[in-house]
Amino acid sequence: MTAADRERSTPSPDEAFATLGNETRLNILQALGAADGPLAFSALFDRVDVDDSGRFNYHLGELVGHFVGKTDAGYELRQAGRRVVEAVLSGAVTDAPVVERTRIDQRCHYCGAPIEVSYRQDRVLKYCTDCPGRDHPPTSVSDAPAEGYLGSLPLPPAGVHGRTAAEVYEAAWTWANLEFLSEASGVCSRCSAALDESVTVCEDHAAADVCAACGNRHAVQFHADCPNCINDLHGPFVLKLVANTALLAFLTERGLDPVAPARASIAAVDRVHMTYEEEVRSTAPFEACFTFSAGDDTLSLTVGDDLQVVDVSR
Ligand SMILES: [Zn+2]
Ligand SMILES: [Zn+2]
Ligand SMILES: [Zn+2]
Repeated sequence: MTAADRERSTPSPDEAFATLGNETRLNILQALGAADGPLAFSALFDRVDVDDSGRFNYHLGELVGHFVGKTDAGYELRQAGRRVVEAVLSGAVTDAPVVERTRIDQRCHYCGAPIEVSYRQDRVLKYCTDCPGRDHPPTSVSDAPAEGYLGSLPLPPAGVHGRTAAEVYEAAWTWANLEFLSEASGVCSRCSAALDESVTVCEDHAAADVCAACGNRHAVQFHADCPNCINDLHGPFVLKLVANTALLAFLTERGLDPVAPARASIAAVDRVHMTYEEEVRSTAPFEACFTFSAGDDTLSLTVGDDLQVVDVSR
């Protein structure tokens, strides 16, 4: 296959993995990613640790098309090559840092007790030191204890380096929140495909702390599954409401930044998001009302069968 053929065709996943399964090729992609602009053949050769220019030329040729573009100005990354370099540099491919449970100066949004955070498997896990918390840790973090679990936030390994446990938690809050805003809007945060959204309702819900029947604090659980990639999101229905403009305004009017809150107000934002009342009016068709509170003020969002907000009252 010539470079021109490769530019026109999209490799299968097998072909893409095979193309990338070589150290010299990954070094070429990283060198192009670090460059300020297109690199001529000789400039690129100088930046990659390989002695034999014939072998170098062969590997470069395998990348040209889908991963690397070639113009009169030289070689440069195409979007697929850029995504590979970003994944490597985020640490998502090679790095697996672990932070053991550490108490930080943040409070549980349910009971106000100090919290502890840990980091493993690309997630920050959050635990209350006093109350039972909520449901259970994600199955992808199989060694995480359930006692006191308050939730987990995705964060690439690069977000851990050079940060204290408190700073890791703050970075994760913002990083995860931006993903949640995308997913609440129906767009996969990883690949941008349209998410399949659904809701489940616990039939025998007991509202105190953690329900014996479903293991959750809230009966209404939101599910967003990506039909294109492996991303999925499951949790309390607030996950579908975080991008609602009335809820965003409810927070900002109280001086709370709902996107990247200051250290001192993270717990207050979490308290509004996580301690809402829910009233299920009907399961088929689905209709429920969610009431958020801050001080004496409340905001009620009624959600219809298409999972969109159909009524707002304050
Ligand atoms: Zn607690
Ligand atoms: Zn339940
Ligand atoms: Zn996706």
